[in-house]
Amino acid sequence: MSARDDPPPTYSKTDAIILRTYDYSETSLVLSMLAREHGRVQALAKGARRPKSTFEGQIDLLAEGQAVLLMRPATGLHLLTEFYCRERHLPLRGSLDRACAAGYAADAAGAASPEGTPQHEIHDLLSQTLSALESADVLAVLPFFQLQLLRHSGYLPNLESCAACGARIDAGDARYSFARRGLTCPDCRDEGPHAVDVSRAAIALILGLARSGPAALGRTHVAPPLASEAILFLARLIAASFEHETRALRSLLSVLRKRRR
Ligand SMILES: [Zn+2]
Repeated sequence: MSARDDPPPTYSKTDAIILRTYDYSETSLVLSMLAREHGRVQALAKGARRPKSTFEGQIDLLAEGQAVLLMRPATGLHLLTEFYCRERHLPLRGSLDRACAAGYAADAAGAASPEGTPQHEIHDLLSQTLSALESADVLAVLPFFQLQLLRHSGYLPNLESCAACGARIDAGDARYSFARRGLTCPDCRDEGPHAVDVSRAAIALILGLARSGPAALGRTHVAPPLASEAILFLARLIAASFEHETRALRSLLSVLRKRRR
C-alpha cells in the first residue's frame, strides 16, 4: 500500500486507562493505554517528560481519564494530544498487595483487548477493579475480575461438565485440561503435563462468582487458601487464553504465596 492510500489521521476522544509508560526520548513518553473506544493502543505523548508540559500532573501509571488521540493506524503509534486525568488511584501505591494486584489486572486487561475494537466492558471492568482494589480485600476482588475478563472476551470455559465426554462434574476434584480447554472427569482425566488439578471448592467458588453481578466485586469473603487457589487457576486460564505470562503475574504469585503461609 502506498502512503497515498493510507487512511488519513483522525482525532478521537475516548476514555482511557494508562497501562504502562515507556521513556521514548529525553522529553517524550510512549503510553500503552486501554482506550474504551479502540482497545489497547500505543500513543506518543510528546513533551510529557518536560517539567512544564501540557500533560503536567495528568499522566501516571493506572491513571484514568479522557484522552484525545490523533489516530495514525498506518504507523501503529498514535499521538496523544490531550489527557485529562479523572482518577489516579493513589491508594493502590500504599501497599505491595494492592499495587501487584492492580498491575496484574492492568496487564491482563490489556492483553485481552486487541487494538481496533471498542472494549467498553473490559475498560469498565478494569476501572471498577482498580477502584475496588483501593480498599477491598485483594483476594476478594481478583477472582471476580479474572472471571469477568474471561467472560467478556469469550474465553470462560464450561466448568460444569467434562470437556471430553460431557458428563456433569458435580462431585470431587477435577482436572483442567488446557489441550481440551475444559475440565475432565475422573474417567477422562487428562494426565498430561498441560493439565492442572482444581478442587471442588475452587470450582464452586468460581461458579458462584459467575452467577453474581458487579455488586459482588470485592464483597465476598473467601478464606485465603481457597481464594488463592481460584486466583492461580484463573490466572492460568487467562495466561493460556491471551498468551501472556508477565512480570506482573509473577509478582502477584509471590505476594499470594506469602499470604498463604
Ligand atoms: Zn469425561
